[in-house]
Amino acid sequence: TSFSDLGLSPELLQAVADSGYTQPTPIQAQAIPYVLMGRDVLGCAQTGTGKTASFTLPMIDILAQGRARARMPRSLILEPTRELATQVAESFDRYGKHHKLNQALLIGGESMAEQEKKLDRGVDVLIATPGRLMDLFDRGKILMTDVRTLVIDEADRMLDMGFIPDVERIVSLLPRIRQTLFFSATMATEIRRLADAFLSNPKEISV
Ligand code: AMP
Repeated sequence: TSFSDLGLSPELLQAVADSGYTQPTPIQAQAIPYVLMGRDVLGCAQTGTGKTASFTLPMIDILAQGRARARMPRSLILEPTRELATQVAESFDRYGKHHKLNQALLIGGESMAEQEKKLDRGVDVLIATPGRLMDLFDRGKILMTDVRTLVIDEADRMLDMGFIPDVERIVSLLPRIRQTLFFSATMATEIRRLADAFLSNPKEISV
């Protein structure tokens, strides 16, 4: 499989080439076409497999095709740690350089005021850790009624870190009609239960 077989736009293929990638990794080859089709995905994959690009690349194309209403967030990516969230934000910046998408990185340890200012200006994508997202939501700074794509990344680490109640609350605040991409390195019973609760007829991919 080559990147050009996956259904990505010419702009994204250029960004991929600019990144120096010659071939999609297995998770990318398997997930990207289904994400572009609008399917839910349950991905069993570890960090280092190219998992990040398997969702950021197709999400950029989906966002670029749709139209923002008053620049309310249309995608939400949940990460267990600040480091992972920062990496995803960098990935969005790099692959999305040909698009005018605004993203907000909502993580602890950074100025809440700056993040609020960013949100007030309007964003397409929220990349967040659950705690900071809930803090900002409870302060009335985030409207999630336009979120159409949700990514729950590293679900097993979310579980280990005690974030599942926050994640469940966040999901309960999102529109029911949405696309959900769920990734975990392991599929323990509790992770399966969450996947069953959050996903609808997912394409299961294991690498
Ligand atoms: P991830 O598993 O998403 O954390 O990605 C691991 C590393 O692989 C990152 O440094 C990416 O930039 C890199 N990477 C992702 N996709 C590819 C690819 N198709 N070819 C080569 N490197 C890649």
